[in-house]
Amino acid sequence: MKKKESIALYGGTPVRNSYLPYGKQWIDEEDIHAVTNILKSDFLTTGPTISQFEKSIASFVGAKHAVAFSNGTAALHAACNAAGISENDEVITSPMTFAASSNCALYMGGRPIFADINPQTYNITSETIKPLINGKTKAIITVDFTGQPVEYEEIMAMAEEHELVVIADAAHALGATYKGENIGSIADMTMFSFHPVKHITTGEGGIITTDSDKYYERLIEFRNHGITRDPMKINKKDPWYYEMQALGFNYRMTDIQASLGLSQIRKLQKFIDLRRDYAQKYNEAFEGMAEIITPFQKEDCNSSWHLYIIRLHLSKLRVNRDEIFRALQKENIGVNVHYIPVYLHPYYQLLGYKEGLCPQAEKVYQEIITLPLFPKMSDQDLNDVITAVKKVISYYAVE
Ligand SMILES: *Cc1c(COP(=O)(O)O)cnc(C)c1O
Repeated sequence: MKKKESIALYGGTPVRNSYLPYGKQWIDEEDIHAVTNILKSDFLTTGPTISQFEKSIASFVGAKHAVAFSNGTAALHAACNAAGISENDEVITSPMTFAASSNCALYMGGRPIFADINPQTYNITSETIKPLINGKTKAIITVDFTGQPVEYEEIMAMAEEHELVVIADAAHALGATYKGENIGSIADMTMFSFHPVKHITTGEGGIITTDSDKYYERLIEFRNHGITRDPMKINKKDPWYYEMQALGFNYRMTDIQASLGLSQIRKLQKFIDLRRDYAQKYNEAFEGMAEIITPFQKEDCNSSWHLYIIRLHLSKLRVNRDEIFRALQKENIGVNVHYIPVYLHPYYQLLGYKEGLCPQAEKVYQEIITLPLFPKMSDQDLNDVITAVKKVISYYAVE
């Protein structure tokens, strides 16, 4: 038996002295300048910067409209409202996602229906969605998990056939492409999030892109209490008059957020390129390691690499994922797990969802670890992750 380097979990020296998080924002002087300028201006909210930011995102993804929200979850809620999801409607989505992807259906009184994932791509597919469609199905909420697009062509065709609305949760996929088309220009409505770990940040923030004028109007009203001032929609012509015609929320983005977003967009392509470059370096470093499965990438897609996830060949390791996770944390590598299948959360269990519902998602969940990946990482950070993964995996490898 070859002598093994002692891992930090058992008293060895950690690969790093300082903790490396799995994701983090990149804020520079330009961003700070943009925000302080807005603080000195007339509008902190409902000002002109919002529509500048919206136009900029719409043009980046190639969509007709974009509507900004206080966060991505609010944006998903608004999209579900615009899609007309109501009491007892079924909404098909992925279990391999953040809870917001299906919570938004619950907000409308709808019922999330979880389609299983493909064990290679970790995305839901037309094959796993199809058997779940019935007379109650109203919409499909796709998730471009890690930044890798779902099979939009098949899913959009199926949705059209059954008259379903497709809402893309593309919180991971800003800058990704599918068969040469930008994510954000394919589904009926697409959501992006600007949380600090996402591709660009506004602190908190989210947006819906759409080509539909009808959805656009509903989104605009929903984020502002359901109030309209559109003279086409109200009879009274007094200049002060407005009407609340439906129940909405205050889900507005501030100009402070939008100004940061506008400044961040200038760096977006650089951020995406860096993520792709780092993912490629991880792929090369882990190539040939029998204990690890690196992320599968579809040839006709270009992922935006929000997350880099390795999957463990547990039969080639002496311990389970949780032990490997703890060992990497002790090396000061901020690994993470994305995600606990949504319906396994206690709240969903109370709603009656049962373990075993999506066997592929549950199996994949037991075997995945998210490695740090963000544009601000240095080459040294990247090398530390690679060193730690190799050290921990070889320590636990079956002889
Ligand atoms: C981040 C995220 C959201 C929610 O976005 P917030 O802006 O944090 O509300 C929704 N879905 C997925 C898959 C996400 O990663």
